[in-house]
Amino acid sequence: MSELLIYYNGEYVPKSKATTSVYDHGFLYGDGVFEGIRAYNGRVFKLREHVDRLYDSATAIALKIPMTKEEMEEAILETLRRNNLRDAYIRPIVSRGNGDLGLDPRKCAKPNIFIISQEWGAMYGDLYETGLTGVTVAVRRNAADALSPNIKSLNYLNNILAKIEANEKGGDEAIFFDSNGYLSEGSGDNIFIIKNGKVYTPPTVNNLRGITRATAIELLEEMGIKVHVENLGMFDLYTADEIFVTGTAAEAAPLVKVDGRAIGTGKPGPVTKKMVEAFKRVTQSTGTPIFR
Ligand code: PMP
Repeated sequence: MSELLIYYNGEYVPKSKATTSVYDHGFLYGDGVFEGIRAYNGRVFKLREHVDRLYDSATAIALKIPMTKEEMEEAILETLRRNNLRDAYIRPIVSRGNGDLGLDPRKCAKPNIFIISQEWGAMYGDLYETGLTGVTVAVRRNAADALSPNIKSLNYLNNILAKIEANEKGGDEAIFFDSNGYLSEGSGDNIFIIKNGKVYTPPTVNNLRGITRATAIELLEEMGIKVHVENLGMFDLYTADEIFVTGTAAEAAPLVKVDGRAIGTGKPGPVTKKMVEAFKRVTQSTGTPIFR
């Protein structure tokens, strides 16, 4: 098989040649932004929404991406075409660029832009049927007034610290609270709670404005189930009838245990099952065609 091609500053280069400078501030300081996008069945799911969020993340760190959104979309589609991918995970990255060892971003002449793509199926395999286990973690979600979780920046250390804790405690996913004690999100997904037939999810001040979260809200409302956006706490988590998480990589996945405690019956519940099915349907049938 030929080597995967990676978009790198306007060219499509083999994976082994897609290397950046050690002076890239993305590498030195996590100074940059990224996205995680999926293609299903020959279509890119919510392409414009992801590109919009990439540009918003960049604006939030005063980084000007030197191409239009349309050019970015076309580069994403062309990367998939050149690799002949129909079901894929796509990772656009924009770093501040090559500078010196100082922090000052003014030393970086121009951003480096990469688009990595690879074939990708279901992240959690059988766990969509049986459910994931969650672990609440001691580390708090970054405060929005320090480094907003709404910036999808290359600095994911807060999330990695949470993941390390979940790994140590033997859970599939970490569950963050913020420094006020409110439920925030998972290390790489948003969280929904079902209680007495009602669906709740936290507001997005202290977690990422997930594109899958927005899709889940739309799908639930199409089913006639209203989603209540409210501050939630540990009590709500432990006493939930059902929990599911949403994310581009995770998709919609049931969470059946938290901190070793069964949630509800300890099995994926009816609302969650409907959600997993509805999400599968929408991802298989909508999106921007790759091959035109
Ligand atoms: N929260 C975090 C911290 C994430 O990294 C992700 C994945 N992008 C999400 C939530 C889910 O966002 P989306 O549904 O847009 O992938």
